[in-house]
Amino acid sequence: MGSSVHRIAIALAFIACILANAVEAQTKYSRKSTAKSYPNAQEKKKKHEELAEKLSTARHDLVQATNDYKASLEKLLPLYNADLKNAAELVKKRSELYAQGIISRRELEDTRRAVATAQQKVDELNKQLGEANDVVAEVEAAEKLLKEQSGAGGNYTTSALIRFNGTGEWALSLASKVETFFAAKYNHQLPISAFGQTAVHNHLGFDHHNAMDVAVHPDSAEGQGLMAYLRALGIPFIAFRSAVPGSATGAHIHIGLPSHRIAPIN
Ligand SMILES: [Zn+2]
Repeated sequence: MGSSVHRIAIALAFIACILANAVEAQTKYSRKSTAKSYPNAQEKKKKHEELAEKLSTARHDLVQATNDYKASLEKLLPLYNADLKNAAELVKKRSELYAQGIISRRELEDTRRAVATAQQKVDELNKQLGEANDVVAEVEAAEKLLKEQSGAGGNYTTSALIRFNGTGEWALSLASKVETFFAAKYNHQLPISAFGQTAVHNHLGFDHHNAMDVAVHPDSAEGQGLMAYLRALGIPFIAFRSAVPGSATGAHIHIGLPSHRIAPIN
């Protein structure tokens, strides 16, 4: 896994660098000083194409590396599921032994705890897989952010994503406000799939410290309601329809600015 992490780190560093240039370039396009920055339209177009091409390559590398990471997690899933199944069977067996007075309550409780632990490991692994899918979606978005003309305030919608570049106040510490709104409106907890920087983001060198991902599809009623709320408060977000066109994998709403910067790899 070491070399895969290394590759991801390199790809991410590359993307960060390109994005920084891209954002700068886009800002220049949208300002009156365009003529000074890029003397003619042809050169401007060429620069943009170069950036797009570099970003496309880096994105490809990163998506590949993230997919390798996902594959390594997926390999563990049947092992963890088997552990869970074995532990559950042991509880069944020991429950009978306990009923017959052959083993102590403590021994039975130990086995029950083992089931809980095994279940936790399966849940955690599935959560990591989900987060890796979200990272794929967010990396794919980086390329689209460059390709799309951002227009007024950088707000736009494509078939894959909806970007709202709100200028209101946002910090992860305000998450509880969003949670309160959502719980009051939909009678259940906001399904946060990644709160700030997680182990998966660290592993992939992805800076997500001031953002949170919510596991709702942007086209669902809850997704629509959440986005309307965020817009009303000027909270920036990117809503992803999927990481893979035509599937719902990776669909989520990322609240906060796009995750571009790169955290150091441990
Ligand atoms: Zn996110």
